[in-house]
Amino acid sequence: MNEVTPVGSAPASVQKSPRGKKEANLHFYRLLLVSNVLMWFFCNSLHAQTAEPVTRTSVVLLGTGTPNADPQRSGPAVAVVVDSTAYLIDAGPGVVRRAVAASERHGIAALEPSRLGHVFLTHLHSDHTVGLPDLLFTPWVLERQSPLTVIGPPGSERMMTHLAAAFQEDVYMRLFGLEPANPTGHEARVTETSGGLVFQDERVRVTAFRVPHGSWPVALAYRFDTPDRSIVISGDTGPAEDVMVRACDGCDLLIHEVYAKAGWDRREPVWQRYHAASHTSGPELGHIATRSGARELVLIHQLLWGATPEQLLAEIAASYAGPIHYGNDLDVH
Ligand SMILES: [Zn+2]
Ligand SMILES: [Zn+2]
Repeated sequence: MNEVTPVGSAPASVQKSPRGKKEANLHFYRLLLVSNVLMWFFCNSLHAQTAEPVTRTSVVLLGTGTPNADPQRSGPAVAVVVDSTAYLIDAGPGVVRRAVAASERHGIAALEPSRLGHVFLTHLHSDHTVGLPDLLFTPWVLERQSPLTVIGPPGSERMMTHLAAAFQEDVYMRLFGLEPANPTGHEARVTETSGGLVFQDERVRVTAFRVPHGSWPVALAYRFDTPDRSIVISGDTGPAEDVMVRACDGCDLLIHEVYAKAGWDRREPVWQRYHAASHTSGPELGHIATRSGARELVLIHQLLWGATPEQLLAEIAASYAGPIHYGNDLDVH
């Protein structure tokens, strides 16, 4: 009976005698086994390389400051960058120059001035909005063609209308003087919201959540869902555990404002009352981050009042076991 040999059987030259033939076949099968194992490893490593998820989203802290004019911490502004588009949250003082700094340091083209086209306002406190005319006009002067998309709480429309009026002489001169300015890039398209799904395109889905912030009727946190990440930015908020549990709900990144209780303890009662209602302490944030299931926590808008960053981190870590990043300007997460 003819022995059945697999396709690609041993060469005829080794098929001398039945015994020799058997050994040759054995040798052949060993080789086949080794080559199969090698092929398996090769394919798997190739698969691991090609299956590696492509990171499409990054978060850049443009400004981590507060109303305090700290030269190391520009006014509040965060950029969620998806592919080649940046979505800014708040526009504190210095926002466009910080975007350029981040663009140059990290090679993020989406943060070049002419490409800054979207901003989401958490509330209208001046430390979060003083950079709006910068964001509206500087990119236009640097050849942004499209109007600025502005989404924010009630009052945003009026603010942008007043900014247009305040700068009308400049706009007139650029449009009708000798400068070759385009006629659309200085405009703003404003949508006011008090919460819910506020924006959606092929890269992001943005949901706003109302948070308590002193006497503001509407202050907002935003959740960004991108193809590969979920990110929540608290804005300025008093402790809002239930809101953050709903907004984050196991999110990849919770970017949250915070103050150090160790510093707050030394403040006058009138300021203690204000800050307790308007902002979130380290111990409170630890509980919030844990209950909301945040996978990582990034601190912004830090108020220390003489406490140290280490003290603040310890206050949070007492009840939150995940990674905590003490945010600094131009950090990328
Ligand atoms: Zn603020
Ligand atoms: Zn505020």
